[in-house]
Amino acid sequence: MKTLWTPWRMEYIEGKTGRESGCIFCAAKNLPHSAKDLILYRDTTLAVLMNRFPYANGHLLVAPTRHVADLRELSGEENAALSTMLTRCTVILDKMLKPDGFNIGLNLGEVAGAGLASHLHWHIVPRWHGDHNYMTILAEVRTIPEHIEQTFSKLLPDFQNR
Ligand SMILES: [Zn+2]
Repeated sequence: MKTLWTPWRMEYIEGKTGRESGCIFCAAKNLPHSAKDLILYRDTTLAVLMNRFPYANGHLLVAPTRHVADLRELSGEENAALSTMLTRCTVILDKMLKPDGFNIGLNLGEVAGAGLASHLHWHIVPRWHGDHNYMTILAEVRTIPEHIEQTFSKLLPDFQNR
């Protein structure tokens, strides 16, 4: 499936923001946020990023700070913090982007579609009525109406406000 008007993809294709440089969830580990790495929020337990290759505008990723691949490696404290943050993400997205619903999920292992299987991460994908529009059906082209950096700027203040 192709996406229309996604300049950040061109940067990726041109090699300016290579994924191969390391784990995206472990990037900028000491910063509370980072526009360059699309990190909206980070503390000692978890991080919230924007997906550079989104399924929809406002597609977020929530990951534990520790580089672990298996759910069984998460502590009770980490599980509780991650669960609370998933809820908080829906509250912030509801307020700022007004979606009609969400898909929230976890891909465990490359076979399940995990782009980065070695570091656990949850996807939060906002959904709107009609977002699977005729363009998707006819041409397998998906449109994303807002540039990812604009969405990042819109969401950042709420994630930094505790
Ligand atoms: Zn990592």
